[in-house]
Amino acid sequence: MRELVVLGTASQVPTRTRNHNGYLLLWDGRGLLFDPGEGTQRQMIHAGVSATQVHRICLTHVHGDHCYGLPGVLSRMALDGVTHPVHLHYPASGEDVVRALVAVASPGVDLHLHPHGAAGEVAPGVEVRPLHHRIETYGYRLVEPDGRTLLPERLAAAGVTGPDVGRLQREGRLGEVRLEEVSVPRRGQRFAFVMDTAPCPGAEELAEGADVLVAESTFADEDADLARDYRHLTAGQAGALAASGGVRTLLLTHFSSRYTDLEPLREQAAARAGEADVVVARDLDRVPMPRRRTTTAR
Ligand SMILES: [Zn+2]
Repeated sequence: MRELVVLGTASQVPTRTRNHNGYLLLWDGRGLLFDPGEGTQRQMIHAGVSATQVHRICLTHVHGDHCYGLPGVLSRMALDGVTHPVHLHYPASGEDVVRALVAVASPGVDLHLHPHGAAGEVAPGVEVRPLHHRIETYGYRLVEPDGRTLLPERLAAAGVTGPDVGRLQREGRLGEVRLEEVSVPRRGQRFAFVMDTAPCPGAEELAEGADVLVAESTFADEDADLARDYRHLTAGQAGALAASGGVRTLLLTHFSSRYTDLEPLREQAAARAGEADVVVARDLDRVPMPRRRTTTAR
Protein backbone atom coordinates (compact mmCIF):
# COMPACT_ATOMS: atom_id res chain seq x y z
CA MET A 1 0.00 0.00 0.00
CA ARG A 2 1.23 3.45 -0.81
CA GLU A 3 -0.54 6.46 0.64
CA LEU A 4 0.14 9.75 2.32
CA VAL A 5 -1.44 10.48 5.70
CA VAL A 6 -1.74 14.22 6.19
CA LEU A 7 -1.15 15.09 9.85
CA GLY A 8 -1.09 18.86 9.60
CA THR A 9 -1.27 21.62 6.99
CA ALA A 10 -0.42 24.89 8.79
CA SER A 11 2.69 26.97 8.30
CA GLN A 12 4.05 29.19 11.08
CA VAL A 13 0.80 29.58 13.04
CA PRO A 14 -1.67 26.72 13.50
CA THR A 15 -5.41 27.41 13.35
CA ARG A 16 -8.52 25.81 14.82
CA THR A 17 -8.69 23.49 11.82
CA ARG A 18 -5.06 23.20 10.79
CA ASN A 19 -2.31 21.64 12.90
CA HIS A 20 1.32 22.41 12.23
CA ASN A 21 2.91 20.40 9.39
CA GLY A 22 3.32 16.65 9.47
CA TYR A 23 3.00 13.93 6.81
CA LEU A 24 3.37 10.17 7.10
CA LEU A 25 4.06 8.42 3.81
CA LEU A 26 3.21 4.72 3.97
CA TRP A 27 5.17 2.96 1.26
CA ASP A 28 5.19 -0.84 1.02
CA GLY A 29 5.13 -1.43 4.77
CA ARG A 30 7.59 1.36 5.49
CA GLY A 31 6.71 4.69 7.07
CA LEU A 32 8.45 7.94 6.23
CA LEU A 33 7.55 10.83 8.50
CA PHE A 34 8.14 14.23 6.93
CA ASP A 35 8.51 17.47 8.89
CA PRO A 36 6.82 16.65 12.20
CA GLY A 37 5.68 19.99 13.62
CA GLU A 38 4.15 20.54 17.05
CA GLY A 39 1.29 18.22 17.86
CA THR A 40 2.31 15.50 15.42
CA GLN A 41 2.07 12.78 18.07
CA ARG A 42 -1.57 13.61 18.79
CA GLN A 43 -2.45 14.06 15.13
CA MET A 44 -1.14 10.53 14.54
CA ILE A 45 -3.70 9.26 17.04
CA HIS A 46 -6.49 11.14 15.27
CA ALA A 47 -5.29 9.74 11.94
CA GLY A 48 -5.17 6.17 13.22
CA VAL A 49 -1.46 5.64 12.65
CA SER A 50 1.09 4.62 15.25
CA ALA A 51 4.65 5.62 16.03
CA THR A 52 5.72 2.03 15.40
CA GLN A 53 4.94 2.59 11.71
CA VAL A 54 7.73 5.16 11.39
CA HIS A 55 11.07 3.93 9.99
CA ARG A 56 12.52 7.11 8.56
CA ILE A 57 12.10 10.76 9.54
CA CYS A 58 12.92 13.43 6.97
CA LEU A 59 13.28 17.09 7.93
CA THR A 60 13.41 19.71 5.20
CA HIS A 61 14.78 22.35 7.58
CA VAL A 62 14.84 23.20 11.25
CA HIS A 63 12.22 25.95 11.49
CA GLY A 64 9.88 25.03 14.34
CA ASP A 65 6.80 24.27 12.25
CA HIS A 66 8.81 21.47 10.61
CA CYS A 67 10.56 19.86 13.57
CA TYR A 68 9.16 20.78 17.02
CA GLY A 69 7.16 17.56 17.02
CA LEU A 70 10.29 15.44 16.82
CA PRO A 71 10.91 14.94 20.58
CA GLY A 72 7.29 13.94 21.14
CA VAL A 73 7.32 11.39 18.34
CA LEU A 74 10.67 9.95 19.41
CA SER A 75 9.52 9.73 23.04
CA ARG A 76 6.35 7.97 21.96
CA MET A 77 8.42 5.49 19.95
CA ALA A 78 10.53 4.79 23.03
CA LEU A 79 7.40 4.35 25.15
CA ASP A 80 5.89 1.98 22.61
CA GLY A 81 9.06 -0.11 22.59
CA VAL A 82 9.95 0.35 18.92
CA THR A 83 12.86 -1.99 18.23
CA HIS A 84 13.57 -1.34 14.56
CA PRO A 85 16.21 1.22 13.61
CA VAL A 86 14.93 4.72 12.87
CA HIS A 87 16.80 6.94 10.44
CA LEU A 88 16.68 10.71 10.76
CA HIS A 89 17.63 12.91 7.79
CA TYR A 90 18.18 16.67 7.99
CA PRO A 91 20.32 19.49 6.57
CA ALA A 92 23.80 19.44 8.09
CA SER A 93 23.60 23.06 9.25
CA GLY A 94 20.63 22.10 11.44
CA GLU A 95 22.81 19.76 13.49
CA ASP A 96 22.65 21.78 16.74
CA VAL A 97 18.86 22.09 16.65
CA VAL A 98 18.39 18.43 15.77
CA ARG A 99 20.72 17.29 18.55
CA ALA A 100 18.88 19.52 21.04
CA LEU A 101 15.52 18.08 20.00
CA VAL A 102 16.84 14.52 20.17
CA ALA A 103 18.47 15.22 23.55
CA VAL A 104 15.16 16.10 25.23
CA ALA A 105 13.39 13.01 23.85
CA SER A 106 13.13 9.86 25.95
CA PRO A 107 16.07 7.57 25.20
CA GLY A 108 15.71 4.05 23.91
CA VAL A 109 15.12 4.43 20.19
CA ASP A 110 17.78 2.97 17.89
CA LEU A 111 18.16 6.32 16.14
CA HIS A 112 20.63 6.94 13.32
CA LEU A 113 21.46 10.52 12.34
CA HIS A 114 22.08 11.27 8.66
CA PRO A 115 22.89 14.93 7.95
CA HIS A 116 23.18 15.95 4.30
CA GLY A 117 24.78 18.97 2.71
CA ALA A 118 24.42 18.39 -1.01
CA ALA A 119 22.03 17.00 -3.61
CA GLY A 120 22.04 13.24 -3.93
CA GLU A 121 20.71 9.93 -2.65
CA VAL A 122 20.49 9.84 1.15
CA ALA A 123 19.00 6.34 1.41
CA PRO A 124 18.06 3.70 -1.15
CA GLY A 125 15.50 5.35 -3.42
CA VAL A 126 15.38 8.57 -1.36
CA GLU A 127 16.93 11.68 -2.89
CA VAL A 128 17.34 15.27 -1.77
CA ARG A 129 17.73 18.54 -3.65
CA PRO A 130 18.52 21.97 -2.19
CA LEU A 131 15.66 24.44 -1.94
CA HIS A 132 15.82 28.22 -1.57
CA HIS A 133 14.55 29.34 1.83
CA ARG A 134 15.86 31.62 4.58
CA ILE A 135 17.93 28.80 6.11
CA GLU A 136 19.41 25.66 4.54
CA THR A 137 16.50 23.57 3.26
CA TYR A 138 16.23 20.38 1.22
CA GLY A 139 13.26 18.76 -0.45
CA TYR A 140 12.91 15.02 -0.87
CA ARG A 141 11.70 12.55 -3.42
CA LEU A 142 11.18 8.82 -3.58
CA VAL A 143 12.05 7.27 -6.91
CA GLU A 144 11.07 3.69 -7.59
CA PRO A 145 13.20 2.17 -10.37
CA ASP A 146 11.40 1.49 -13.61
CA GLY A 147 10.52 -2.17 -14.05
CA ARG A 148 8.50 -4.46 -16.27
CA THR A 149 4.98 -5.83 -15.95
CA LEU A 150 4.61 -9.45 -16.99
CA LEU A 151 1.83 -10.36 -19.40
CA PRO A 152 0.26 -13.66 -18.26
CA GLU A 153 -1.04 -14.63 -21.72
CA ARG A 154 2.38 -14.20 -23.28
CA LEU A 155 4.03 -16.14 -20.45
CA ALA A 156 1.56 -18.95 -21.04
CA ALA A 157 2.14 -18.87 -24.80
CA ALA A 158 5.88 -19.08 -24.20
CA GLY A 159 5.36 -21.98 -21.80
CA VAL A 160 6.96 -20.21 -18.85
CA THR A 161 5.39 -21.27 -15.54
CA GLY A 162 6.11 -21.66 -11.83
CA PRO A 163 9.59 -20.83 -10.54
CA ASP A 164 10.77 -20.16 -14.09
CA VAL A 165 8.83 -16.90 -14.03
CA GLY A 166 11.00 -15.57 -11.21
CA ARG A 167 14.15 -16.77 -12.98
CA LEU A 168 13.15 -15.01 -16.17
CA GLN A 169 12.52 -11.78 -14.19
CA ARG A 170 15.87 -11.97 -12.44
CA GLU A 171 18.00 -13.08 -15.36
CA GLY A 172 16.19 -11.38 -18.23
CA ARG A 173 16.27 -14.54 -20.31
CA LEU A 174 15.14 -18.15 -20.03
CA GLY A 175 16.32 -20.36 -22.84
CA GLU A 176 14.95 -18.78 -25.99
CA VAL A 177 12.52 -16.52 -24.15
CA ARG A 178 13.58 -12.95 -23.47
CA LEU A 179 11.90 -10.89 -20.72
CA GLU A 180 11.02 -8.11 -23.18
CA GLU A 181 8.91 -10.53 -25.21
CA VAL A 182 6.57 -11.38 -22.33
CA SER A 183 6.35 -8.04 -20.53
CA VAL A 184 5.87 -4.31 -21.00
CA PRO A 185 7.79 -1.43 -19.40
CA ARG A 186 6.44 -0.26 -16.07
CA ARG A 187 7.37 3.19 -14.92
CA GLY A 188 8.44 3.41 -11.28
CA GLN A 189 6.33 5.60 -9.03
CA ARG A 190 7.62 8.93 -7.79
CA PHE A 191 6.68 10.94 -4.72
CA ALA A 192 8.05 14.46 -4.24
CA PHE A 193 8.04 16.68 -1.17
CA VAL A 194 8.77 20.37 -1.66
CA MET A 195 8.51 22.55 1.42
CA ASP A 196 9.54 26.06 2.26
CA THR A 197 11.15 27.59 -0.79
CA ALA A 198 11.07 30.27 -3.41
CA PRO A 199 10.85 28.93 -6.96
CA CYS A 200 14.21 27.28 -7.70
CA PRO A 201 15.86 24.58 -9.84
CA GLY A 202 15.96 22.12 -6.93
CA ALA A 203 12.18 22.24 -6.60
CA GLU A 204 11.83 21.65 -10.35
CA GLU A 205 14.13 18.63 -10.23
CA LEU A 206 12.15 17.13 -7.36
CA ALA A 207 8.83 17.66 -9.14
CA GLU A 208 10.00 16.07 -12.40
CA GLY A 209 7.70 13.19 -13.29
CA ALA A 210 6.15 12.98 -9.82
CA ASP A 211 2.95 10.98 -9.43
CA VAL A 212 2.26 12.96 -6.27
CA LEU A 213 3.88 16.29 -5.48
CA VAL A 214 3.33 17.72 -2.01
CA ALA A 215 4.10 21.42 -2.32
CA GLU A 216 3.91 24.28 0.08
CA SER A 217 1.61 27.07 -1.02
CA THR A 218 1.90 29.37 1.93
CA PHE A 219 0.45 32.39 0.18
CA ALA A 220 -2.27 33.29 -2.31
CA ASP A 221 -1.16 34.93 -5.54
CA GLU A 222 -2.23 38.40 -4.33
CA ASP A 223 0.31 38.08 -1.51
CA ALA A 224 3.23 37.39 -3.86
CA ASP A 225 5.25 40.16 -2.20
CA LEU A 226 5.13 38.31 1.12
CA ALA A 227 6.02 35.04 -0.60
CA ARG A 228 9.05 36.67 -2.17
CA ASP A 229 10.17 38.37 1.06
CA TYR A 230 9.91 35.18 3.13
CA ARG A 231 10.96 32.81 0.33
CA HIS A 232 7.79 30.83 -0.04
CA LEU A 233 5.64 29.71 -2.94
CA THR A 234 2.34 31.23 -3.90
CA ALA A 235 -0.44 28.87 -4.91
CA GLY A 236 0.10 29.86 -8.55
CA GLN A 237 3.81 29.13 -8.30
CA ALA A 238 3.07 25.70 -6.82
CA GLY A 239 0.78 25.09 -9.79
CA ALA A 240 3.46 26.17 -12.25
CA LEU A 241 5.94 23.83 -10.53
CA ALA A 242 3.55 20.91 -11.05
CA ALA A 243 3.05 21.83 -14.70
CA SER A 244 6.79 22.08 -15.38
CA GLY A 245 7.33 18.61 -13.92
CA GLY A 246 4.37 16.92 -15.61
CA VAL A 247 3.02 16.07 -12.15
CA ARG A 248 -0.17 14.00 -11.87
CA THR A 249 -1.46 15.01 -8.44
CA LEU A 250 -0.47 18.26 -6.76
CA LEU A 251 -1.25 18.38 -3.06
CA LEU A 252 -1.19 21.92 -1.68
CA THR A 253 -0.34 22.47 1.97
CA HIS A 254 1.57 24.63 4.52
CA PHE A 255 -1.00 27.41 4.46
CA SER A 256 -0.70 30.76 6.15
CA SER A 257 -3.18 31.24 8.98
CA ARG A 258 -4.50 34.35 7.20
CA TYR A 259 -6.61 32.18 4.85
CA THR A 260 -9.69 30.44 6.15
CA ASP A 261 -11.13 29.57 2.74
CA LEU A 262 -8.53 27.67 0.70
CA GLU A 263 -10.62 27.26 -2.46
CA PRO A 264 -9.17 30.42 -4.05
CA LEU A 265 -5.66 29.01 -3.55
CA ARG A 266 -6.71 25.76 -5.21
CA GLU A 267 -8.10 27.71 -8.16
CA GLN A 268 -4.96 29.81 -8.48
CA ALA A 269 -2.79 26.69 -8.49
CA ALA A 270 -5.07 24.85 -10.92
CA ALA A 271 -4.97 27.76 -13.34
CA ARG A 272 -1.24 27.15 -13.84
CA ALA A 273 -0.96 23.43 -13.07
CA GLY A 274 -1.37 22.04 -16.59
CA GLU A 275 -2.64 18.46 -16.51
CA ALA A 276 -2.16 18.00 -12.76
CA ASP A 277 -5.07 17.32 -10.43
CA VAL A 278 -4.87 19.96 -7.73
CA VAL A 279 -5.99 18.98 -4.25
CA VAL A 280 -6.03 21.07 -1.07
CA ALA A 281 -4.63 18.97 1.77
CA ARG A 282 -6.78 18.87 4.90
CA ASP A 283 -5.63 17.59 8.26
CA LEU A 284 -6.13 13.81 8.56
CA ASP A 285 -6.69 13.30 4.82
CA ARG A 286 -5.37 10.08 3.31
CA VAL A 287 -4.12 10.52 -0.21
CA PRO A 288 -3.44 7.30 -2.14
CA MET A 289 -0.74 7.17 -4.79
CA PRO A 290 -2.58 7.30 -8.12
CA ARG A 291 -2.69 4.14 -10.21
CA ARG A 292 0.45 3.61 -12.23
CA ARG A 293 0.71 5.32 -15.57
CA THR A 294 -0.50 2.71 -18.02
CA THR A 295 1.78 1.41 -20.70
CA THR A 296 0.13 -0.44 -23.54
CA ALA A 297 1.53 -3.61 -25.06
CA ARG A 298 2.76 -3.41 -28.62
ZN1 LIG B 1 7.36 26.33 7.34
